[in-house]
Amino acid sequence: MASLLEINQLKTSIKHAKGQLTIVDGISLVLDKGETLGVVGESGCGKSVTSLSIMRLLGKNAALEGEIRFNNRNLLSLSEKEMQKVRGNEIAMIFQEPMTSLNPLHYIGKQIAEPLIRHMSLGKREAKERVIALLKLVGIPRAEEIYHEYPHQLSGGMRQRVMIAMAMACNPKLLIADEPTTALDVTIQAQILELMKKVNKESGTALLLITHDLGVVAEMCDRVVVMYAGQIVEEADVRSLFQQPRHPYTVGLMASIPEVTSSQERLSSIPGTVPLLHEMPSGCRFAPRCAQAMEICRQQKPELISVTERHKCRCWLYAEGE
Ligand code: SF4
Ligand code: MG
Repeated sequence: MASLLEINQLKTSIKHAKGQLTIVDGISLVLDKGETLGVVGESGCGKSVTSLSIMRLLGKNAALEGEIRFNNRNLLSLSEKEMQKVRGNEIAMIFQEPMTSLNPLHYIGKQIAEPLIRHMSLGKREAKERVIALLKLVGIPRAEEIYHEYPHQLSGGMRQRVMIAMAMACNPKLLIADEPTTALDVTIQAQILELMKKVNKESGTALLLITHDLGVVAEMCDRVVVMYAGQIVEEADVRSLFQQPRHPYTVGLMASIPEVTSSQERLSSIPGTVPLLHEMPSGCRFAPRCAQAMEICRQQKPELISVTERHKCRCWLYAEGE
């Protein structure tokens, strides 16, 4: 059976004063129905651009190459009109800051009902009933009252619940969540993740979860890809990644997960910064920050290779097997 989402060698570049800058450089990944895949990396690694590429929301300055097969169609060859039917209907997206995606001038109910009327041809009364059921599903108390309230009247956590209700309204096959809990405090964060897990389980919707936080991946995902400087550097099922991270970058990310039990006050983090897009190192892109860098790392690009059946890594340390 074909996968729900299959990305082959996606390359996304943006026109810029310094020329064409490649932000996503040859990403390939698959996501099956109902599966949860985490995409993790620091800001600027290309993970958000990957998701915006899938949704084709990058505007005219972006050039996309490769293939994004969703439900057996290549999204990159759909017309804008066909793409509009996919967005919000078959693929829905949740962003970090709900205020940027909610319309401040419309009450909550109207915003969730709108795609139901547009994509699912529901009548007004049916749409309202479904919206109230959705608000209850995402754990919003007083759903009938909240229906008539405006986004600014709700807390950050409640707004994110509204976003999830809105995303789930048309029963999408794929939900893309980009840092969905980053703006929330820890307790609310846990509640929202719990809710997303429940929704994902009950509806069978596949989840592509974009985050800088490996702790969130551990909590939520079946598999994970780690991105660095526009490329995938490691890919594995979550258990295997946590048991034995291979790539020195992933090892560094693991070390910066705060441990609840530790008394350590400062988090360890990886020294240095992500290379600038127009100044990519010619060999391994992580070499300037890698404590294990060897001569070959600075000269030749490592490929993403399988280290075990379900674990891939892009690093010269594993070029000749383990
Ligand atoms: Fe470090 Fe070399 Fe591996 Fe790059 S290829 S991560 S520089 S050891
Ligand atoms: Mg981002």
